[in-house]
Amino acid sequence: MSIIEMSRTYFDHNATTPPDAAVIEAVIRALREDYGNPSSVHHFGQRAKALLDEARTTVAELIGGEPAEIVFTSGGTESDNLALRGAANAIESSSARRHVIVSGIEHEAVLNTVKALSTRGWTATVLPVDASGVVSPASLAAAIAPGTAIVSVMHANNEIGTIQPIADLAAIAHEHGALFHTDAVQSVAKIPVDVRALGIDLLSLSAHKFNGPKGAGALWIRRGTRLTSTMTGGKHERNRRGGTENVPGITGMGIAARLARAKLDADATRVGALRDRLERGVLQRVPGTLVNGGSSPRVPNTSNISFDGVEAESLLIALDLEGFAVSTGSACSSGTLEPSHVLRAMGLPSHRTQNSIRFSLGAGNTVEQIESLIAKLPGVVEKLRALVRR
Ligand code: PLP
Repeated sequence: MSIIEMSRTYFDHNATTPPDAAVIEAVIRALREDYGNPSSVHHFGQRAKALLDEARTTVAELIGGEPAEIVFTSGGTESDNLALRGAANAIESSSARRHVIVSGIEHEAVLNTVKALSTRGWTATVLPVDASGVVSPASLAAAIAPGTAIVSVMHANNEIGTIQPIADLAAIAHEHGALFHTDAVQSVAKIPVDVRALGIDLLSLSAHKFNGPKGAGALWIRRGTRLTSTMTGGKHERNRRGGTENVPGITGMGIAARLARAKLDADATRVGALRDRLERGVLQRVPGTLVNGGSSPRVPNTSNISFDGVEAESLLIALDLEGFAVSTGSACSSGTLEPSHVLRAMGLPSHRTQNSIRFSLGAGNTVEQIESLIAKLPGVVEKLRALVRR
């Protein structure tokens, strides 16, 4: 089959999702018609501001917050940076606490921000996860100290999908007077997220992970939480994030949030059934396979599977040639394959940290696509194993 004729299936929704048709329409309309600066007093500005207000409401509703608690950002990375650096800025001006705690399976947006804080006098503790990819509240209770100012643990992991016990962890942080931030980039719109029920102070989300546009995200900041902007600029976003807002992107995010809220339960059930079907099929038909984090509560769309005797990168390329887009947790940097820090943190033996593939499903996937993948996988894996045996 030539590349042009080949039908392609997207199983990489944790990397990014296709924008919904209604999102695309709203973004184009905002670009074309509502181009005013939302800070302008005139009609054009007020039309743009109305779009921001509407999006602020729908994004807040998706997570059980108030519109005034939402700060628009350029995405998950900026939200994580603003949460940690902004909170640290405020703490530095009022307290001697300089200790931050994160989990070992956080996204680089959190891990590298914590590294940056260490250059300005902060110390960090990285919490372990168990073999099933979950942070235990007991490990936080053991690590937290009088100097702890911020605890940051992600809600759902991007590589294996495991859901962390956020409410319990946040309660421990608060008992010790620390702020609690969660990176919910991979849980929002996949499972119900309610900031009040979780009892947290700061939450990061990103539109392109739930069928919204890239370059739009939000940080939810519980009313009363002290946070100082990390950028010098205008007084946008209640002084917390300078810069003219990305009106088209934020408008698209608002539409995506509204759609996600309306179909959250139905999507979770449908996508979860597809994921379970995929895992059953692979485990039955491909010998030497294991689901990483499979025994833990997980978001319904994510499956991370180890294939014995196969290098993940080779399998990814072989599947791409067959028309299936998947991903590995490993990062290929300067020619060396870095094993996934998430799988390493779970204590997996080194061969399993390098032979794991992430399948992340989404709204557009079908039973036929899953069946087609299950039918192709045994042959593709066997071919790769035979190459290694030679
Ligand atoms: N946090 C998590 C858990 C993610 O999965 C990602 C994206 O992969 C990010 C943060 C970064 O989000 P963005 O791409 O919007 O900067």
